[in-house]
Amino acid sequence: MLPRLVVLSGAGISAESGIPTFRDFNGLWNNYRIEDVASPEGWRKNPQLVLDFYNMRRKDAQKAQPNRAHYVLAELQEDFDVTVVTQNVDDLHERAGSKNVIHLHGSLFKMRSSKDESLVFDIKEDIKLGDKCPLGSQLRPHIVWFGEAVPLIETAAEIVASADAFIVVGTSLQVYPAAGLIEETRDAIPKFVVDTKIPYISPRLGFNALEGKASEGMERVKDELRRIFAKQ
Ligand code: NAD
Repeated sequence: MLPRLVVLSGAGISAESGIPTFRDFNGLWNNYRIEDVASPEGWRKNPQLVLDFYNMRRKDAQKAQPNRAHYVLAELQEDFDVTVVTQNVDDLHERAGSKNVIHLHGSLFKMRSSKDESLVFDIKEDIKLGDKCPLGSQLRPHIVWFGEAVPLIETAAEIVASADAFIVVGTSLQVYPAAGLIEETRDAIPKFVVDTKIPYISPRLGFNALEGKASEGMERVKDELRRIFAKQ
């Protein structure tokens, strides 16, 4: 059986694909207020603005291409049983070839009923005001907004707890409960964090930090993991 590699990724892994992160300089939040476009209150106040925002982001994601960091994760499937737990709502992990991807915060390529969150549909084009689910409620982006529960967090926590190796890449670890997943890792496994600005992680957790771009950092982690697991 292949060793289990679990990856927690964030907006930084897609930065080299031209998709802006939330918190970096020039981040999306400089042009929009979080509460307007990523909260249930914002949706109630101005659904048109929210739909415009995600319709635009979907187009940007469609134009973007996976970068080397996404491809490295797909290549690691040759040697590891890989699960990517991503906070990203783009589909670049899948397009690079990753087979097991958990989208903690939803997907730009799905929409759902406003009445029943289990009614989820695939989408390639814009969601418009007046587009209704079978229950008659307005369709909304299938995105977990601030203040909403993260339905997949328990599943993700179990997967992280079973990891034989763990990578954190391109996340500021500011958004909970996703950021708390690093606490679920077992003690004596190899752990890496790759980021242009390494986020704070308690030294108790034993992470190896590789500061730099995701594409370069992930190549180094790949070599390191292959070396460690070849020995065992
Ligand atoms: P974040 O913006 O808070 O943090 C991004 C992290 O990436 C930072 O630590 C930054 O230093 C790092 N980074 C920037 N460029 C990098 C690069 N080239 N290589 C490596 N690291 C780089 O994003 P987050 O932690 O993912 O959390 C915020 C929320 O943003 C999440 O809920 C997520 O849903 C959402 N988001 C998703 C996308 C996407 O789907 N691509 C884009 C923006 C935001």
